[in-house]
Amino acid sequence: MINLLDFDQAALTALFAERGEKPFRARQALRWVHRRLVDRIDAMTDLAQSARDVLARDAEIRAPVVVRDSTAGDGTRKWLLDVGGANAIEAVYIPEDDRGTLCISSQAGCALDCAFCSTGKQGFNRNLGVAEIVGQLWHANRALLADGASAPWIEQGRHPITNVVMMGMGEPLANFDNVVSAMNLMLDDNAYGLSRRRVTLSTSGIVPAIDRLRDACPVALAVSLHAPNDALRDRLVPINRKYPLRELLAACVRYIEKAPRDFVTFEYVMLDHVNDAPEQARELAELVRDVPCKFNLIPFNPFPNTEFATSSRNRIVSFQRILRDAGFVATTRKTRGDDIDAACGQLAGQVQDRSKRRTIKVQPLATH
Ligand code: SAH
Ligand code: SF4
Repeated sequence: MINLLDFDQAALTALFAERGEKPFRARQALRWVHRRLVDRIDAMTDLAQSARDVLARDAEIRAPVVVRDSTAGDGTRKWLLDVGGANAIEAVYIPEDDRGTLCISSQAGCALDCAFCSTGKQGFNRNLGVAEIVGQLWHANRALLADGASAPWIEQGRHPITNVVMMGMGEPLANFDNVVSAMNLMLDDNAYGLSRRRVTLSTSGIVPAIDRLRDACPVALAVSLHAPNDALRDRLVPINRKYPLRELLAACVRYIEKAPRDFVTFEYVMLDHVNDAPEQARELAELVRDVPCKFNLIPFNPFPNTEFATSSRNRIVSFQRILRDAGFVATTRKTRGDDIDAACGQLAGQVQDRSKRRTIKVQPLATH
């Protein structure tokens, strides 16, 4: 069976053409799947019977199966989704007054092995398909509507999810084609119709793929920086050994020419006495002096057997103040969904380590 969630508009139009159906019918079908969120072809009542018959032969609408659904005290909701072969991924819904954000996974596991990331510690299993990526959004909207979610924009007929961040499990740019097709659906007016500034892709810094994204689908960009120099970043974010900071920052500047916002967001995980010293904040400010950017400081979320600890409130505040005094916008991410392990880098924490890979040990820097 083919899964209609796997098809963006171009692919669905091609499928319909192959089967002798007109392009506008593909758009109609797309609207049924992604706007009306139906899960059955026979529910597509205004689609010509011939087109429905053509689809009904071998097509279905199949999102990943939910194996756990938990809601935290602060309203954050996490779905654990089975993607087959004992792989589970997660999607996390973060409600706020003016928006509903969904954090989406792009891979089962991740090969990049950042030292402070529990997804990285699980090793890489496989890339998610388009249906598995966009299916997280399809499912979240349906589940929230079915549960009677209320917000002003829902009353105006919009979906509960207004913003998507590709910040769940996996490195989205290492699954480029599927992620771009899924994002095309997020942006498509016949599907989710989100503006490019409401879709954010977070990457650890695969430089050639940042350039490709700029041409293929320039959504808002977040880059996981985490260190003010190559020596430390080589240890925290191993992909830095291949694409060092100078190249990464140059790619960020190139990206901004096409980006929906005139800045890149730098994520910086706050690791106690590793990357959070005042002089490191000053070094960081100097490093990115010529890059239009904002900082998002992320308190480290600990997980079992990690060698890192979360920076103290004081160290985070001082670090943030130095960046602000240097003229940068710097915010500290609120930790949400703590009680259901929905915070960054904790996703699918129960999934076993299949990689048996040695972890890279990072010595805390002598400090200060
Ligand atoms: N692979 C992409 C996107 C997924 S991770 C990337 O690395 O950017 C989303 C963000 O969470 C990244 O900035 C990542 O560095 C951060 N993160 C990973 N593990 C974390 C942890 N244990 N605590 C806090 N942030 C973490
Ligand atoms: Fe992969 Fe991102 Fe985790 Fe690094 S931080 S291991 S790139 S998911």
